[in-house]
Amino acid sequence: MACKNLIGGEWRGSDDVMEVRFPYDGSLVGAVSMASGTDMDDAMAAAVAGFEQTRALPSYRRSEILENIGRLLRERFDEVVEAMILEGGKNRKTAVGETTRALETLKVSAEEARRIGGEVFSIDWTAAGVNRQGFTRRSPIGAVLGITPFNYPVNLACHKIGPAIAAGNSIIIKPAEKTPLSSVILAEIVLESGYPPQAFSMLNAWGPDTEMMALDPRVAMISFTGSAAVGWMLKSKAGQKKVTLELGGNAGVIVHSDADLADAAGQAAAGGFANAGQNCISVQRLLIQRDVFEDFADLFVDEVKALKMGDPRDPEVDIGPMISERDAERAEAWVREAQKAGASLLYGGEREGTMFPPMVMTETAPDMRVNCEEVFAPVVTLSAYDAWDEAVAMVNDSPYGLQAGVFTNDVKRIMEAWERIDVGGLQVNGVSTFRVDHMPYGGIKASGYGREGIKYAIEDMTDLKLMVLNLG
Ligand code: NAD
Repeated sequence: MACKNLIGGEWRGSDDVMEVRFPYDGSLVGAVSMASGTDMDDAMAAAVAGFEQTRALPSYRRSEILENIGRLLRERFDEVVEAMILEGGKNRKTAVGETTRALETLKVSAEEARRIGGEVFSIDWTAAGVNRQGFTRRSPIGAVLGITPFNYPVNLACHKIGPAIAAGNSIIIKPAEKTPLSSVILAEIVLESGYPPQAFSMLNAWGPDTEMMALDPRVAMISFTGSAAVGWMLKSKAGQKKVTLELGGNAGVIVHSDADLADAAGQAAAGGFANAGQNCISVQRLLIQRDVFEDFADLFVDEVKALKMGDPRDPEVDIGPMISERDAERAEAWVREAQKAGASLLYGGEREGTMFPPMVMTETAPDMRVNCEEVFAPVVTLSAYDAWDEAVAMVNDSPYGLQAGVFTNDVKRIMEAWERIDVGGLQVNGVSTFRVDHMPYGGIKASGYGREGIKYAIEDMTDLKLMVLNLG
């Protein structure tokens, strides 16, 4: 039987049923009801009514509810891991890591719910302000529509649910069509948590159908994580609505000659191929100082060879299937096109269906799609540079600006990189893929708008409200 949608506390099925297949072998692993226009309309009406309850909840209660969600998720940990493996082909190690991180996201959200304060400040900077006192507070904004992508379906939904509840907003979650099953479990958990039922909905819906909710004035804010194309399109249509966008990237990581090459190679292999490279901050472009290029390339290829590809249910496997054969074909075409134009494959193999072997490329040009677009597959390019300035310019030679990494121990180079590399976050002696869930996270340029990392998402999910008290 198809999983239902949760609409303001009510589970509702539909005739439009979508099958969910295991990307590893194509077997049927579930089915979900796709929401109708009426379902979406009802979810928005419930969100507006539910907000009147959530905005009145004291912070200790919002915090307790988030603790409940965390406790219930811990109880259903294995079930959530299993759902993610089957719906998205995520390898077990990564699915366990993601669920562990989702617990952290909820824990921090429960903490931040108690810390949404304000400021007291002087108004008398000019004569007009004498005898007045200023105060600010943050007010919840209303119904938030959280749209999530396929690659981290649980933790990224928690990055929307956690701050929305911490702030006292109502929230509608619209998961990716490719990975709808884990969100059904999350919805059961939120329903059981004590949050006012009207204030939470989870609807599986086709992407373009979701625009109906995204553009409806009852939705106060769109919190979108997904591709740049869809994100910027939604923002362009959103009018006065608040919008935050967490989008893609083609991260550059610099390895300078003074770096610990073995450490950099190990981190870069993990960061380039985790989740089969389907990661917005995946290491895509490795830029290596020419003097150490050969040594680093050898170390890196050794690390890549040690990665085990196979059935994502196997706890030893590092690389499972890509999300779909279509996505794998697209990435393969980009690799072949680069080879035709002169690039070499330092390490690789043959694709079989959704199973895409890790590929390491050299002698690529900046305008090849494996470099200048988001490859979103287990493909990493290696390029040499001579001077530090050149490497910084190469990282910046991208429409994206999410995260980057630099490996060097020279403090001047580190500070220069921090100042000049155009990204939302820079990792020093770390790869672009590093993220813990409370840090401010998000991109500049085409990579996004706004920040997640609970405290920062709460800022976006609240309005700053001023009060001036005339004591005169
Ligand atoms: P996608 O853009 O195809 O889909 C994301 C979500 O948008 C899905 O829920 C989809 O149904 C919905 N959607 C599609 N069309 C829509 C429309 N017209 N109106 C409203 N919603 C619509 O992305 P994806 O393939 O699921 O995810 C991969 C992308 O997500 C990559 O680009 C990746 O870099 C990015 N991503 C970014 C972050 C981040 O935090 N910056 C994290 C994970 C993934």
